[in-house]
Amino acid sequence: MSGLRILAVASEMFPLIKTGGLADVVGALPRALAALGIEVRTLVPGYPAVLSRLGQAHALATLDDLFGDRGELLTADLDGTQILVLEAPHLYDRPGGPYQAPGGHDWPDNARRFAALGWVASEIARGRLGDWRPDIVHAHDWQAGLAPAYPALASGPRPPTILTIHNIAFQGQFGAHLLPELRLPPQAWSVNGVEYYGGIGFLKAGLYYADRITTVSPTYAREIQTSAYGMGLEGLLRTRAADLTGIVNGIDETVWNPATDPHLPAPYTADDLAPRARNKAALRAQLGLEETDSPLFCVVSRLTWQKGMDLLIEALPDLVAQGAQLAVLGSDRDEYTNAMTGALERYPGRTAGAMRLDEPLSHLMQGGADAILVPSRFEPCGLTQLYGLRYGCVPVVARVGGLADTVVDANDAALGDGVATGVQFAPVTVEGLRDAIARAIELWRDRATWAAIQRRGMSRDVGWRARAKQYAALYHSLVPERGRLEHAA
Ligand code: ADP
Repeated sequence: MSGLRILAVASEMFPLIKTGGLADVVGALPRALAALGIEVRTLVPGYPAVLSRLGQAHALATLDDLFGDRGELLTADLDGTQILVLEAPHLYDRPGGPYQAPGGHDWPDNARRFAALGWVASEIARGRLGDWRPDIVHAHDWQAGLAPAYPALASGPRPPTILTIHNIAFQGQFGAHLLPELRLPPQAWSVNGVEYYGGIGFLKAGLYYADRITTVSPTYAREIQTSAYGMGLEGLLRTRAADLTGIVNGIDETVWNPATDPHLPAPYTADDLAPRARNKAALRAQLGLEETDSPLFCVVSRLTWQKGMDLLIEALPDLVAQGAQLAVLGSDRDEYTNAMTGALERYPGRTAGAMRLDEPLSHLMQGGADAILVPSRFEPCGLTQLYGLRYGCVPVVARVGGLADTVVDANDAALGDGVATGVQFAPVTVEGLRDAIARAIELWRDRATWAAIQRRGMSRDVGWRARAKQYAALYHSLVPERGRLEHAA
């Protein structure tokens, strides 16, 4: 047992609160690390959804002045993982999502809401709240970006810090006038500090002050050092290249297991894929798709530019003309929700969509569709292609970020060597996507080849074990003296 103690800091954690892949990672990593003897406690904001799912919680400390009012630090056990919940009604007790009001606008006080998260992380890290002190602070995304900044700006000892970028498109940029309100000292106002394009950049601050930076795939780690993907932060990331690594996300193999999935009418394994046909039929029935001898593609995604959904809308007539079907699970107020709904309605029986968050349907899609389309313009890691691999729902993906790192394209060489697990395409254009769909349909028509691709994907290691070992190695590299002490003991 290594005995390392990690304070994870994040704005989402499955199953408490989730808007995207970040929550899945923050939820799953602690359990995988626990198996390696590493203790993680995760600090999350006390949104109503979090507090209502908390169960038995204990008060750890009271914060008399938490950015405008009182706050309480609670601790609770969530299926074996210790969580720390920042209960602060003036910051988090409101309807809507974690970042946005019900109308879809960002909460106007997001700077304060997430500065408070970073501040409390810093207080815990510096031993000023409760008696548990972490060896390392591991912050996730811009919402936790100030967690590495506050301790670095304070005097006195502090543990090393890590910032993980899940998506560099979300940067947390706020007005410079907030500096004192956010308890940032004047010396923080510098290009060598929190200043970013004339404002305060939370992600920028985290990237500047963290001792190490990770992102969620090796390819994305390289991409974000270029102007095409860095979204303004490429220069800073290049200066920090020696401290930047990419670790691909795993998936929760207990939640995502086609052999035991309660959302599938017909569970199955790689040894016997035949039951998948019943899931396909159930999926078609649920969405009103015709029962025909044709490949069924699915999409489980935010319907945004990043995810290439405009490209898919353009490629749709071609997909249908080639005899394929498409099922889309999206959400109700995305950039392309209306356009997608309109496009899908043009081919009744051939294409269909559900515009809502629907966890059971997301499982049925993976367990019933033949292939999952992920035509992202950029994709830090991506999870749905990993679920696809595990479920024999062959991923058809853009060759970017984590998609490039996790899917092996079924080109002739890969097919010959028996290593293909999906279809990749580049450049990420309508033509590229059309070609990829055409290639997938052709592969599907050769049933033996298709089944081999499915089975190979299902045999890939997409769990957290191997990935957690990479995080553990990173942690140990930051506090080598802990390792030495244990060897001595
Ligand atoms: P991102 O975090 O950029 O949205 P990821 O692929 O990393 O993309 O993670 C998306 C996660 O959200 C996956 O777990 C996926 O299954 C889930 N998801 C996306 N849309 C829906 C939906 N409408 N209903 C249920 N789950 C969804």
